[in-house]
Amino acid sequence: MSAFNQPIGGNDLARFAGPGTFMRLPQVETAAGLDVAVMGVPMDIGTSWRSGTRFGPKQIRAESAMIRPYNIQTGAAPFEKLQVADIGDVAINTFDLADTISIIERWTDAVLSHGAIPLTLGGDHTLTLPILRAVAKHHGPVALVHVDAHADVNDVMFGVRECHGTVFRRAYEENLILPDKVWQIGLRGTGYGPDDFNTPRDWGFNLITAPEIWHRSLAPLADTIKQAIGTTKVYLSYDIDSLDPAYAPGTGTPEIGGLTPPQAMELIRGLDGLEIVGADMVEVSPPYDPSGNTALVAANLAYEILSILPKPKRS
Ligand code: MN
Ligand code: MN
Repeated sequence: MSAFNQPIGGNDLARFAGPGTFMRLPQVETAAGLDVAVMGVPMDIGTSWRSGTRFGPKQIRAESAMIRPYNIQTGAAPFEKLQVADIGDVAINTFDLADTISIIERWTDAVLSHGAIPLTLGGDHTLTLPILRAVAKHHGPVALVHVDAHADVNDVMFGVRECHGTVFRRAYEENLILPDKVWQIGLRGTGYGPDDFNTPRDWGFNLITAPEIWHRSLAPLADTIKQAIGTTKVYLSYDIDSLDPAYAPGTGTPEIGGLTPPQAMELIRGLDGLEIVGADMVEVSPPYDPSGNTALVAANLAYEILSILPKPKRS
């Protein structure tokens, strides 16, 4: 019997039964004693087009009941080496975006204070800013792998400086991230002008647009990123709209011509070995996805991310 928490197996309790936690792991109150704390941020008040990501964490957890603990293709067995549990949802203030941002930072700060890696299920992309603030407080500025159709580097939206489209400009301004170790992957779609992508390039960010990687394996790109980041601590932020809407229609701001699930898997798997200190899976909007496939893809990619999180050395 393993010393670590195990997901409830589908041969022990029917998949449609049991707790509504990620992979039906135990739900715990705090991150004390955990290597990885799965947490939900059920918010959509920072989004600019379609809403519904408030239902993302619940639906990702529901679809995760299908996932088995052993990664047959990669050999990863995360629950043999990591103590993982679901610490539930952040108690956001759904009437107040600024307050919600403060609450998420305090919550993440507590997780990091226990030495756990936060693996966050969203929720709109706003949530990554307060998480990065807490991460920078504990670890200093970090490298960033950001997979998204969008750069999320607007200055203001409707006069608001902190929302899902401004996250990485704020993170850059506040020195939460190391600009030359930022990788934004999958960018595409229409913009307001060339500066939309040129501005982050001028800051030193490495941008890989979707057309540059259409029809290609992302394993070589993952190798390049791994070499460039090296042993620097890194945060991984995965916006589900990086995928093509054919695979992930349930999202707030869909853009055609996106990544495929195999590309996403190659990318994540190829990052194994990085010193990841936090990760998120954001922008899943179940109401725009009658098939449920978006949350299914998100749950599986969250599992792929879990599979590459650094394993603590134990005596
Ligand atoms: Mn985004
Ligand atoms: Mn996006």
